[in-house]
Amino acid sequence: MLTQSHPWCFQPEHAALETLAAGFRAEGGIRERVAALGAAGLLQPRDTRSLAVVRRHLAYHAPLTDLAFVIQELGCTPLERAGALPEVVAEARAGRRVLAFGLTEPNAGSDVRGIETRAERDGAGWRLTGTKHFISNAPDCDGAVVFAVHEGTVGCWFVEAPPTSAQSVAAHSIGRLELDGTPAVRVAERGFGLAFATLERCRPSVGAAAVGLAARALDETVRHVHARHQFGAPLAALPVVRLRVAEMAVELELATLATLHACWKRDAAAPGERTAASSAVGKLAATEAAQRIIDAAVQLHGGAGVEEESVVQQLYRAVRPLRIYEGATDVLYTVIAEAILGPA
Ligand SMILES: Cc1cc2nc3c(=O)[nH]c(=O)nc-3n(C[C@H](O)[C@H](O)[C@H](O)COP(=O)(O)OP(=O)(O)OC[C@H]3O[C@@H](n4cnc5c(N)ncnc54)[C@H](O)[C@@H]3O)c2cc1C
Repeated sequence: MLTQSHPWCFQPEHAALETLAAGFRAEGGIRERVAALGAAGLLQPRDTRSLAVVRRHLAYHAPLTDLAFVIQELGCTPLERAGALPEVVAEARAGRRVLAFGLTEPNAGSDVRGIETRAERDGAGWRLTGTKHFISNAPDCDGAVVFAVHEGTVGCWFVEAPPTSAQSVAAHSIGRLELDGTPAVRVAERGFGLAFATLERCRPSVGAAAVGLAARALDETVRHVHARHQFGAPLAALPVVRLRVAEMAVELELATLATLHACWKRDAAAPGERTAASSAVGKLAATEAAQRIIDAAVQLHGGAGVEEESVVQQLYRAVRPLRIYEGATDVLYTVIAEAILGPA
């Protein structure tokens, strides 16, 4: 338990939440998992360390449940920050409404200044036209927060039941928002501040999900190297295997510390204070380490590690997108460099 191994970072309420998250299990698709998370009270608004303790355990047991959890957070945060649509937020946090967060477009990935989705007035309301892609939970969503351009400024809107089409990414629910004069409610005239604040809040928790996946990989590996015998002894008796496992444990601890530090910095920030660089360090360090840990786990499982049904094979597929979404590693390096060196 993070709250026991790293007590310096937490308050008593984090420990209670971690116990709840560690014992939580849900089955079914995104909709069923969001409903179960809401019923358990896990979707209520909390600080960044809370997101981390929850994600660490959800990702450990079921990456799809972790996805259901965090996308609700990505959907609710901009609405809450803008003070918009409180009834939508209440339903989403109760698990009765699935939300999506629509920022990325075919021509606007890492560079979101390229957003082309247009917002136009329609009497007292608005209509949006454009395509968002790689939108997590789009195929299951009841509503989406969408960033679009109006008169040269990127703003934020909410779209009820957006038209969607599915995309295919392993172990993920993902798709496009196909907006074609689709009615929308304006959330905020200026959207980038909301989008970046939301990412800054959620980014360190991506590190926590990575830590959960990596911790599972280490546990699976420990079990495997004790159970599997070669050369007349368990793999765990081989010096190189022992070294690899120790390396995995060291990497996991460093990833955990980087994540918790980023979460703590976010929670300790004064209102309006930016934490872009520390959030970037936490996400980058933990997701890159988790990839290496899980790769080592696959290696130590041998052929069993690439079988379809093997847990470490599933972890290998689950961890990869974490190094791309919410700021690709290479982009995060530019954020960190800018904090140290100033603008390029
Ligand atoms: C599984 C998954 C879930 C996602 N969920 C959502 C979601 O819910 N909502 C949403 O809005 N988006 C979502 N995304 C989109 C995600 O945020 C983008 O994929 C990401 O921002 C990268 O954009 P891109 O794919 O267009 O890559 P590109 O921008 O084309 O970049 C490709 C690569 O080029 C390099 N690169 C790009 N820019 C720079 C730079 N400035 N410096 C150095 N290197 C650079 C990086 O290596 C980068 O990975 C999701 C993506 C995935 C894979």
